[in-house]
Amino acid sequence: MTLPRCLDCGAERASELCEACGLSTVEAELMFRRRLLSLTLIFLLGAMAFLPASHYYPPLELDAMLIFIGVVFFATLGLAALLDLRARRHLEIEGWKRVFRGLVPVPWLLAGLLFVNGKLDRSPPRPVTVNVVGKFRMPGLLRIHRLIVASWREGSEFERIHVSEDDFARFDVGDSVQVRVQDGLVGIPWVFGVYRE
Ligand SMILES: [Zn+2]
Repeated sequence: MTLPRCLDCGAERASELCEACGLSTVEAELMFRRRLLSLTLIFLLGAMAFLPASHYYPPLELDAMLIFIGVVFFATLGLAALLDLRARRHLEIEGWKRVFRGLVPVPWLLAGLLFVNGKLDRSPPRPVTVNVVGKFRMPGLLRIHRLIVASWREGSEFERIHVSEDDFARFDVGDSVQVRVQDGLVGIPWVFGVYRE
């Protein structure tokens, strides 16, 4: 027979008081919920920190990163809900807890990476002249504005360039624009700005 585990520290408990952390069943559950809530908040703050980092130093592959962050976002919130439910039903949670804890720092790491990659980048901006072939905007929380331009990179057809709302309004399909690209300190190419040719 397996013993129930302490919700706080995960040790098997044979008695009311956990031998590893000294908490009672009720205290351990309270501690577990408090920790779950604070880790979820830390995660949400990280997701919010990613947005300004990706706005000031937008990587060329921003949309792929946003999709990745989106998947991580819903997986993490789903796991938090699952952990809560399983704890309530006294089911095994140690494995899920580990996955959840592994996901919490992900948006912080990505935000930090983009920030360092752009902020400390001393490479000179490389100007490339391209034609705007499309525009894309998505209102709402993320307020996405993209200029779709013909790609200058081998192997890709288009680039979706992150621009401010002003630049989005300033440029039209058919315009020839100069995109200034930087290599990035850690090798993530990013867009310094878009200018009129
Ligand atoms: Zn314990």
